Amino acid sequence: MASSSAATLEDVPSMDLMTELLRRMKCASKPDKRLILIGPPGSGKGTQSPIIKDEFCLCHLATGDMLRAAVAAKTPLGVKAKEAMDKGQLVSDDLVVGIIDEAIKKPSCQKGFILDGFPRTVVQAQKLDEMLEKQGVKVDKVLNFAIDDAILEERITGRWIHPSSGRTYHTKFAPPKTPGVDDVTGEHLIQRKDDTAAVLKSRLDAFHKQTEPVISYYKQKGVVADLHAEKPPKEVTVEVEKVLS
Ligand code: ADP
Ligand code: AMP
Repeated sequence: MASSSAATLEDVPSMDLMTELLRRMKCASKPDKRLILIGPPGSGKGTQSPIIKDEFCLCHLATGDMLRAAVAAKTPLGVKAKEAMDKGQLVSDDLVVGIIDEAIKKPSCQKGFILDGFPRTVVQAQKLDEMLEKQGVKVDKVLNFAIDDAILEERITGRWIHPSSGRTYHTKFAPPKTPGVDDVTGEHLIQRKDDTAAVLKSRLDAFHKQTEPVISYYKQKGVVADLHAEKPPKEVTVEVEKVLS
């Protein structure tokens, strides 16, 4: 085991090793953070997450991305989740709680995590609290991406994503350098099957009925910070940085 990883390291270019070493040294001085991003579909959670992740050396766990990967791979989890996802309804609490329970134990989550799209029900929030209590930690901050529903249809129908990295673009608000192509890898971008005006209606309905109570749940604990998510992306980033500084 040790010799095989040493052999692998020998093959890694020096520049890559140095970059990773510098990243780890920078990360060592950062405080641990356990964050939740809550907001309706299209409110900008996935856009802000990579910026927060890099700044604080956290892992980014987006249950929607994990479920879509499971659906694409036709795993038992994906098969169970697909029907609800296609209709814009929530999948069962047990399925998502299981994937988060496993994911937060990964080494990349050692300095903490950004939960994007989880918890989406009060039951999920309670289960998360139980998991964290067992580890002797708690949620530090909940970022509430507050936004009017009327803005979301244009954001959702213009969204293009790079599935393997999770990078997000928008035809009008964040266009790629070449239409339909990822800036970094040159691979094709796709539109999500549920990013239609019709499915958005069910997704918003689920948000108001099942997820808004989660914001009240965390407000009682005094950890919610409200953001003006209708502002341009850079202005939202400034608000996020203020809240987390
Ligand atoms: P979420 O993860 O909350 O569903 P995304 O971050 O994927 O939302 O954003 C939805 C779409 O809106 C994407 O196409 C993204 O490029 C775009 N977008 C994100 N934030 C903003 C913003 N502040 N202003 C305008 N468009 C935005
Ligand atoms: P998202 O990528 O966050 O927009 O999620 C896409 C879809 O995945 C949702 O419409 C739900 O069907 C499902 N999903 C994602 N996260 C959860 C969750 N925490 N609880 C239940 N369903 C979820």
